[in-house]
Amino acid sequence: MTVETIDTLVVGGGQAGVAMSEHLSNQGVPHLVLERHRIAEAWRTRRWDSLVANGPAWHDRFPGLEFDGLDPDAFADKERVAAYFEAYAEKIQAPIRTGVEVRSVERNVGRPGFTIETSEGVIEANRVVAATGPFQTPVIPPIAPEDASLTQLHSAEYRNPGQLPEGAVLVVGAGSSGVQIAEELRRSGRQVYLSVGPHDRPPRAYRGRDFCWWLGVLGEWDAEMMKPGTEHVTIAVSGAGGGKTIDFRELAHQGMTLVGRTRAFADGKVTFESDLADNLAAGDANYLAMLDAADDYARRNGLELPEEPEARRIPADPACVREPLLELDLAEAGISTIVWATGFTVDYRWLRVDAFDDNGKPQHQRGVSREPGVYFVGLPWLSRRGSSFIWGVWHDAKHIADHIATQRKYLAYHAEAQDAGRTAPRRAATVE
Ligand SMILES: Cc1cc2nc3c(=O)[nH]c(=O)nc-3n(C[C@H](O)[C@H](O)[C@H](O)COP(=O)(O)OP(=O)(O)OC[C@H]3O[C@@H](n4cnc5c(N)ncnc54)[C@H](O)[C@@H]3O)c2cc1C
Repeated sequence: MTVETIDTLVVGGGQAGVAMSEHLSNQGVPHLVLERHRIAEAWRTRRWDSLVANGPAWHDRFPGLEFDGLDPDAFADKERVAAYFEAYAEKIQAPIRTGVEVRSVERNVGRPGFTIETSEGVIEANRVVAATGPFQTPVIPPIAPEDASLTQLHSAEYRNPGQLPEGAVLVVGAGSSGVQIAEELRRSGRQVYLSVGPHDRPPRAYRGRDFCWWLGVLGEWDAEMMKPGTEHVTIAVSGAGGGKTIDFRELAHQGMTLVGRTRAFADGKVTFESDLADNLAAGDANYLAMLDAADDYARRNGLELPEEPEARRIPADPACVREPLLELDLAEAGISTIVWATGFTVDYRWLRVDAFDDNGKPQHQRGVSREPGVYFVGLPWLSRRGSSFIWGVWHDAKHIADHIATQRKYLAYHAEAQDAGRTAPRRAATVE
């Protein structure tokens, strides 16, 4: 059996794998990227049809390439994002092999490096970078009812309203995915119930600047740690329809029924927490705090940006907020479908190394794992808030490539010294 060897193997050819390849090439590190499907597959087949990037084209990109023929303030659709990464990979001549799945990675015993089993044979590498994505396995909470008459799907499987059977829809989760899907379903004429948990909802734009810009100048993308207690707070922001601020009360005024967090299903009924008003109030507070921070920044820096007092107007509470539904009979409400927009988890079963805690969570510092030679890139909060996003992953990949280059220098020194029979001189203790 022939065994291919390479210095560094990158697993996954999404944006994280492409960024990794660019920085490894810049450092002169021989490497190979293995992608089980196609480059940027997640953007092609694991997103709904109408999805556009959450950030404008000038922002949601790598430094080395602009979106061809797109207004910098527009939002690229998912096909364009996928095509962008394909073009990027071509531009940097990334050594990506598609259609090859990595099945296992194990540390060699008694010698350096790793043995990697793939769908096309065995590879040996000195280092492995896991770039398999922050959102690998869809999570549906265990409260999901076992009711065969209901269609249930995760946001990763949702494509468009036509895919769902006739009837009303309960969308569970009101982060960026849930809220966009709920709005699309409502616009298509469906009765929609949206279960809203704790969330941030930044203004899409304020005083003529997109929220991505504000988060950048306010240093928020660089925050190194989540604020305590915000682990379950989603962010509701969207570039859909040219980009507008998500306003839950406005959606209710347009006919959507908002409910609190989904608690349980039993006997054909669903129950909700009584936290809807609190969740909306906390979302408003987050929204208004960002306007305050932006105003403060503009004032201190003497920026001449148009005032926007109307942005502070919060619509009146609709009936579904004043008298929230705490229980709903699914059949009476005509609900035929539940869309679970409840997030994802990671799956590293293929990476059989000592780099995880007891819950399977990667243990690392800025992507450098505790298992020497194993790296993670693309994970949320890998080094900062921007880490899992297009512009953030590029910077994290640079740090990891720098680390790899430094490690290679140590090994090169050792090999050279070994060849020359050199050892560091031993110093005898001096006696005064
Ligand atoms: C609905 C949604 C919308 C988003 N919108 C934005 C946005 O607008 N802007 C933004 O900046 N970010 C956005 N993100 C966040 C992030 O940019 C994307 O999740 C992005 O796809 C992450 O890129 P990645 O390369 O880290 O992972 P992925 O894109 O998931 O790429 C990982 C790749 O690894 C491959 N792979 C996995 N396992 C193996 C294996 N064992 N062997 C070989 N290959 C393997 C997969 O096929 C996949 O192609 C969004 C995320 C979601 C879920």
